[in-house]
Formats: sequence, C-alpha cells, structure tokens
Amino acid sequence: MQFSVCEVCKKPLSSGELCPSCLLMKQEIQRYADQHLEAGPVELSEEFDISPKLLKSWVKRGMLNCLVECRQRGHLIRSGTLCTKCKSDIAVGFKFGEPETKYVGKMHGRNRRG
Ligand SMILES: [Zn+2]
Ligand SMILES: [Zn+2]
Repeated sequence: MQFSVCEVCKKPLSSGELCPSCLLMKQEIQRYADQHLEAGPVELSEEFDISPKLLKSWVKRGMLNCLVECRQRGHLIRSGTLCTKCKSDIAVGFKFGEPETKYVGKMHGRNRRG
C-alpha cells in the first residue's frame, strides 16, 4: 500500500498530492494568479503563506499557471518550464549555451518550404 502526504500541510492522503482543503487553496491561488497576471511564485507565496519552491514545482508539473521564467533563456511564461520558442528550438536540435553561429558566406535556405 502506498502512502502519500499532502504537499502543503503534510496530512496523510490515500492518493493524490493535495488534501481537499489545500486543493481548494490551490484553486484560490490560481484565481489570484489569473487576476494578477504579473504575479509569480514569490508574490503568490507571500499572499498565500506557502513555499515559493512548492509553487514553482506546481507550475513545472502543470498544476498551476502563474508567471515564471523559461528554464532556458528566461522568457516569461505562465505554465511549464519552457516557452514555446525554446520548445521548438529544442525540437529542431538547437543547442543552448553555445555562441551564435557566425555566418560565413551567403545566408541561404531560411525560407525553405516545409
Ligand atoms: Zn493539505
Ligand atoms: Zn524560452
């Protein structure tokens, strides 16, 4: 048998990550974040007296949407860990952290049909 505890109040649970009352609080946090689009985990943590680390992990896991920075290049996003730009860059094999390619010769092939 598997035990888990509520991530916020550490109450034992039979399943899931949050107890019913903390689940309600999370909905409140989401409502607040929807009304304050500029609010990130730190502001929400102060407003709701909850660990910003926990809030960030919720955003990462898609349990909460609020303003966070994209993991790769710090773009502002509201869910997950990557913005759509960095996601698509990763999909095409873009390597982060390397100096930009210097163009030698003519630029070409940028408007290929796909
Ligand atoms: Zn709880
Ligand atoms: Zn990004």
